[in-house]
Amino acid sequence: MSLREQLCEYGQKAVEQGLVIGTSGNLSVRQGELVAVTPSGVALDRLTPEMCPIVDIEGYLIEGDLQPSSETPMHLAVYETTGAQAIVHTHSVFGTVVATTMTELPPVHYNALLLGGAVRVAEYATYGTPELAANVRAALDGKQAALMANHGGVTIGATLEQAFEATRLLEWLCEVYVRGLSVGRPTILTDEQLAAVIDRSLNPPAFPRRTP
Ligand code: 13P
Ligand code: ZN
Repeated sequence: MSLREQLCEYGQKAVEQGLVIGTSGNLSVRQGELVAVTPSGVALDRLTPEMCPIVDIEGYLIEGDLQPSSETPMHLAVYETTGAQAIVHTHSVFGTVVATTMTELPPVHYNALLLGGAVRVAEYATYGTPELAANVRAALDGKQAALMANHGGVTIGATLEQAFEATRLLEWLCEVYVRGLSVGRPTILTDEQLAAVIDRSLNPPAFPRRTP
């Protein structure tokens, strides 16, 4: 599937799964020095492959009639400093709730390790600006996900599928935490508990085979 077709497929999924509404959010996927990105101001479930611009890694428009997403500088900044091959940015509800009320999403569930543990909230800056790009890049250091203060979330992956799954996980973790806060005080996993999870996943016990 072409890069542009992938954007259409995951744009559709993002809308269907309630991760974005209207024209909020954007996606990109990289191949070598080229990046296919969603166009600015188009609902992600209305995309066709030709609508998706292709830019080079320096931000020059290579193909397409529509303007690339306003967050293209943020996407390119993230590609510059991470090994990411795909990026998903949404204004999903629970992610945005955490991003408007906290400075980080603490690890309340061991699956947070799949995103690098605690998720930082990048300092606020106006959408589309180099300042926001720099803040997101700093917040992503060593992580697969970041939240953007008073804005939304961003995840990275080796493929668009991985970046999208990371966005779904980020939203789930934020929902668990926010709902947890309404019931009581969610317990935060300690570094020791998280290290034990990593150890367990690296060294799973082998099931003994029953011999007749
Ligand atoms: P674009 O439509 O330009 O991608 O902007 C949406 C958005 O989420 C800005 O942060
Ligand atoms: Zn946004």
